[in-house]
Amino acid sequence: MIKTDVLIIGAGPVGIFAVHQLGIIGLKAEVVDNLDKIGGQCIELYPDKPIYDIPAVPECTGEDLTNNLIEQIKNFKTNFHLNERVEEVVKEKDNWKITTNKKKIFLAPNIIIAGGVGSFEPRKFLIKNSEKFENNGIFYSIKDKNTFENKKVCIFGGGDSALDWAIELSKLAEVTLVHRREEFRGSKHSAKLVRDLEKKGKLKIKTPFQINSIEGENKIKSITIKNEVGKTETIITDSILGFFGLIMKLGPIAQWGLNLDKKTIPVDTEYFQTNKEGIFAIGDICTYPGKLKLILSGFHEGALAARACFKLARPNEKYRFEFTTTSKSLQERLGVAKK
Ligand SMILES: Cc1cc2nc3c(=O)[nH]c(=O)nc-3n(C[C@H](O)[C@H](O)[C@H](O)COP(=O)(O)OP(=O)(O)OC[C@H]3O[C@@H](n4cnc5c(N)ncnc54)[C@H](O)[C@@H]3O)c2cc1C
Repeated sequence: MIKTDVLIIGAGPVGIFAVHQLGIIGLKAEVVDNLDKIGGQCIELYPDKPIYDIPAVPECTGEDLTNNLIEQIKNFKTNFHLNERVEEVVKEKDNWKITTNKKKIFLAPNIIIAGGVGSFEPRKFLIKNSEKFENNGIFYSIKDKNTFENKKVCIFGGGDSALDWAIELSKLAEVTLVHRREEFRGSKHSAKLVRDLEKKGKLKIKTPFQINSIEGENKIKSITIKNEVGKTETIITDSILGFFGLIMKLGPIAQWGLNLDKKTIPVDTEYFQTNKEGIFAIGDICTYPGKLKLILSGFHEGALAARACFKLARPNEKYRFEFTTTSKSLQERLGVAKK
């Protein structure tokens, strides 16, 4: 069991900055995110796109913003529990007991939900046997490309992820790229590259085809694919990778007894607290009159929620407002104090 002052759900920009605001006032946070990386929508949906409305930063990409936010909290040595979804939240005396899908348990007097539009989950194959082989032959993300070395791999999808992985894995595996349309959706450059690799015999392309069946007992032996006129083909393969994009689900958050307004959580604008004491909601997931779904609004919400967390985490201490410019203790926490 991990005890902490605050458990933050969501490692998007708003969750990361909340770590900073908690850290400077001396509170420890642990962060859980369902994705395999830090950065939320900025890193998952638009890492290369420029953002122009972060105060005092005229232009930065989603990736730059994420990297700078991570840099800004480095002295707090925060644990990020990635690839884990918070499933259950229950009250236990003065604490909240938080359980993830991997059965990790946290105990904290405060929870900050910075869950954005809910947890991102991959769209999956919708055919028989696909659940049985998940993570044992069927994958929706790649942690270590070397596990596919010298293997037969079928990649499904027509977007950038499918094309980029087809290009990358063709260097070390026998790749077949399958897409339900003739044209690819991904960048022109990547689409041309896969066609060139096909001409050079470095990978195979099957379009327009969709998966039809998966054969195998304990591991995948082969699959069949089918086109629009019902023609089928069998492919011997070790693994199949699906890159059909992500769906956003409010998911388990809806089961925690919080008031909901459509897919958002109503909060007050003094503490950004929900209807449950000690559970706060900030960023895209919260709502209140005049709410703007912008990163800068989430930063402000995190600053106020952090101060509210102090009361429950340090009931016998008084919170004192200080500036980072002039406060020695804040600077020490940030690791920037001059001797
Ligand atoms: C294409 C695009 C362009 C944009 N451009 C701008 C812009 O120019 N300026 C601007 O200010 N905003 C912009 N936005 C909006 C901005 O990205 C969002 O406001 C911001 O990402 C919200 O941050 P967040 O931390 O609240 O949520 P998110 O970034 O959505 O992060 C939430 C995280 O919570 C995780 N999560 C949710 N539920 C759970 C759970 N139960 N367990 C574990 N993890 C969970 C999710 O996996 C996710 O990683 C843009 C958005 C898009 C899509």
